[in-house]
Amino acid sequence: RKLRIRTNADTPAMAETAVAYGAEGIGLCRTEHMFFEGDRIDFMRQMILAVDQVQRKAALKKLLPFQRKDFVGLFKAMAGRPVTIRLLDPPLHEENPMLGCRGCRLGILYPEITEMQVRAVFEAAASVMTAKKSPMKVNPEIMIPLVGFKAELADQLAIVHRVAAEVMEKNQIKIDYIVGTMIEVPRAAITAEQIAEEAQFFSFGTNDLTQTTLGLSRDDMGLFYDEYQRKEIYNKNPFASLDQSGVGKLMEFAVENGRKARKDLKLGICGEHAGDPDSIDFCHRLGLHYVSCSPPRVPIARLAAAQAALR
Ligand code: PEP
Ligand code: MG
Repeated sequence: RKLRIRTNADTPAMAETAVAYGAEGIGLCRTEHMFFEGDRIDFMRQMILAVDQVQRKAALKKLLPFQRKDFVGLFKAMAGRPVTIRLLDPPLHEENPMLGCRGCRLGILYPEITEMQVRAVFEAAASVMTAKKSPMKVNPEIMIPLVGFKAELADQLAIVHRVAAEVMEKNQIKIDYIVGTMIEVPRAAITAEQIAEEAQFFSFGTNDLTQTTLGLSRDDMGLFYDEYQRKEIYNKNPFASLDQSGVGKLMEFAVENGRKARKDLKLGICGEHAGDPDSIDFCHRLGLHYVSCSPPRVPIARLAAAQAALR
């Protein structure tokens, strides 16, 4: 096969399972999943419900040690393999509109959230790299969610670079890292050439890209899906198997135009489609570098990627 197979994992246990199945890296660590445990969920709630920056910063200060410890665990479990960490994209749409204040909008409104997360990533990397017992190399890949404008990415990038430089200076260490973006709204795909001027990698978030391209929420499709299938309007569930002639066209456009701005642009996919054989075949033909799927699908993804290469 040509495609690398990464995994979507947020805990050391998930990461270890995926590596045992042959995963070559983490393509998506959803950091919002790292706040559910009983010892930190209250601080997360305090952060969400904070009425001003003072309250928010106080909650973030309490969250930082948990984030740092979790990233240390994740980096150790991955033993030098690439790890893509996505900044917070909490599913607040369970309370709010799906397309409300989420993804990078959150970090743009409240830069202290981005700052805390980036600090946790780099402090964890520094601690793993300088550990007395079995130090390991760590090359974090920071990923910004729900970007549609180059300026959104630039805003968050400035924070990432500033905090990374601070941590490296303080620890007298050089950490090689890259910063990229999810491509999960049509505008990001359409303006890929501009976005690639800032992004070192693209990871197609085909869950949201499907939602936003089809104008459809993954949470309430059940209401009409059976009828759509019966009438053969959808041949397949578009959240399970990539809508190649619609969403796929946007991906194709983004790959072609992103590469115009950056020849060595890294390209991957981390939506659920990354574990579906037909979608993997499409990603192979598109020339992506990797697919990132959930741990139990890693063996299927490896096989499907090999079959795609043979075909
Ligand atoms: C996506 O949108 O494809 C994605 C991977 O992000 P999430 O599922 O967390 O929205
Ligand atoms: Mg998404």
